[in-house]
Amino acid sequence: MHELGITQSIVDIAARTARDQGAERIVSVTVEIGSLSGVIPDAVEFCFEACSQGTLLEGSRLLIEQIPGRGRCPECGAENDIDAYSFSCPACGALGLERLQGEELRIKELEVD
Ligand SMILES: [Zn+2]
Repeated sequence: MHELGITQSIVDIAARTARDQGAERIVSVTVEIGSLSGVIPDAVEFCFEACSQGTLLEGSRLLIEQIPGRGRCPECGAENDIDAYSFSCPACGALGLERLQGEELRIKELEVD
């Protein structure tokens, strides 16, 4: 489960950022996870409690915002909602959709004390 490593880096980055700002504790952390990123939000949530133990994030709330996937067809230019298994354009059937959105994995916001 690679979400453990991902969650660990989210916690590390959040803790470092909060420390740099002189915060004593993190109230909540908002993370954006794209549906094409291959990261499972439930798994991140599951790992978060263990990873946050003994850090500035202990007891903080993890808020996950899921970003839907969007793709553009290289042939006809149609834009569609896509998932990780979409390879062809629903309008014309062309392959090689360009991913416009949905691969995000980042900390969007930190609420600190
Ligand atoms: Zn197309």
